[in-house]
Amino acid sequence: MSGKQRGLDDRTYRRMREALKAQKQPCHICKRPIDTTLPPGDPMSFTADHVIPRSLGGSLYGQLLPAHRSCNSRRSNRVGTPNPIQPPTTSRDW
Ligand SMILES: [Zn+2]
Repeated sequence: MSGKQRGLDDRTYRRMREALKAQKQPCHICKRPIDTTLPPGDPMSFTADHVIPRSLGGSLYGQLLPAHRSCNSRRSNRVGTPNPIQPPTTSRDW
């Protein structure tokens, strides 16, 4: 296990995020403005959304788009499967 680049990644990502936040662009999902003064826990607060999800090979430094927290989580709920609960597969093909 090598976690030596983790801190650097995190810092770079955070800087990209802050730069994006400073641009005050509207949410790329609902197209409404984002109040960047809201606290991070607020559903309407600013989040940086990866255009290409990291799970699909997207880079941590890939293009980011601004989104509301609620919009972002709603979208990812639709795209991916937040609950890793899978129906029991009873295939005894082997
Ligand atoms: Zn939104």
